[in-house]
Amino acid sequence: MFDFTKEQEMLRTMVREFAETELAPKALELDKRGEFPRDLVKKLASLGLLGISTTRDLGGSAMGHLAGTIAIEELARVYPSVAFFLEVGTGPVYAISHFGSEEQKKKYIPPVLKGEKIMCIAATEPTGGSELTNLATEAVLSEDGYVINGRKVYITGGGVADQCILLAKTGERASLIMVERGTPGFTIGRRQDQMGLRSVDVSELAFNDCKVSKDSVIGKEGSGFPIAMTTFTVARPAIGAIGLGIARGAFEIALKYAKERVLYGKPIARLQAIQFLLADMDSEIDAARWLVYYPGAALDKGASPRDIIKASSRAKAAGAGVGVSVTLKAIEILGGNGVSPEYHLARLLNDAMELIPATGTQQIMKIIQAGEILK
Ligand SMILES: Cc1cc2nc3c(=O)[nH]c(=O)nc-3n(C[C@H](O)[C@H](O)[C@H](O)COP(=O)(O)OP(=O)(O)OC[C@H]3O[C@@H](n4cnc5c(N)ncnc54)[C@H](O)[C@@H]3O)c2cc1C
Repeated sequence: MFDFTKEQEMLRTMVREFAETELAPKALELDKRGEFPRDLVKKLASLGLLGISTTRDLGGSAMGHLAGTIAIEELARVYPSVAFFLEVGTGPVYAISHFGSEEQKKKYIPPVLKGEKIMCIAATEPTGGSELTNLATEAVLSEDGYVINGRKVYITGGGVADQCILLAKTGERASLIMVERGTPGFTIGRRQDQMGLRSVDVSELAFNDCKVSKDSVIGKEGSGFPIAMTTFTVARPAIGAIGLGIARGAFEIALKYAKERVLYGKPIARLQAIQFLLADMDSEIDAARWLVYYPGAALDKGASPRDIIKASSRAKAAGAGVGVSVTLKAIEILGGNGVSPEYHLARLLNDAMELIPATGTQQIMKIIQAGEILK
């Protein structure tokens, strides 16, 4: 087993209780309404969950990356939309806290960790998701700052965020640029309908002659790709953790059902076909657990983001895969009830499917992994 500290075990128990008391009763209704639960953001903040791996001087709880993985897994076991929101929020906070100026850190991070402000990170464009280097969005430097033009799609929290970190071409290279909501020329487009993660706002953003000051760049001008890649490397395992949490939630539902559903005078758990499904689910979950926990544990032990590139992409692909695969098996075990909303599995499967492209597709994860193997 993974060697968790007492603090990490306590965190797991606390988040599990929070998820069961605060999220489980609301999950179906929240999903049906498809509303972004802004009040829950405050609750996550009051539990210290918004800044688990951020240093204390910036308002974080400095519990480390593995602790963050555990919290996200436990939230996802019950309501993946909230886990996804938390995962995506860690990206901009990581980028600013590691690459931003002292002024940017003080200005932007504490309000996000207190749940007062929401930040999004906008890289994907209609003309190139995986081909991120083919950016059409451009920020042109003028005397009094940058003028940004372009469009972004699939931006988590785009419709509700107070600030957006944008990846844009600045000359030959790209930069990450902070744009505040309400800046003239920055418009929020349509909310993009999604099959799962129904409470998560995923929106299009447009920038038309949008002017921002020169000091809006995060890090140095031209360092957008290295910073974005480092940020994605650190954030991706959490997508795996959401898949793992979904798989565990689905497994527990299926196990309970298999013990209670009686056919031929005995629980269906006594049928070998059902036992084979349960055995496969158990193996898949435990195998994914190692891959998902590993990058966070390595970072906590002093590894650099560079050291975990392979482990990070592997964790994302494995966790997202197990979320779909185990939930499908759970649906099989429940028969007709498997696809009934009240048993939550259809919702969990739809949520798991959203993880397949998020933060890079499964194919892109394998390309990154293979690139590291072949070095
Ligand atoms: C729920 C959700 C939330 C998201 N949130 C954000 C966000 O907050 N910010 C953000 O910037 N983006 C976000 N995204 C976008 C996400 O990062 C992209 O969807 C993803 O990178 C894939 O890009 P694409 O959708 O354009 O697919 P494409 O790049 O068009 O890929 C299409 C297919 O081609 C394959 N493919 C592409 N290149 C290769 C290759 N070289 N070799 C083999 N196969 C390849 C892909 O694997 C895929 O199967 C989000 C997406 C989702 C679903």
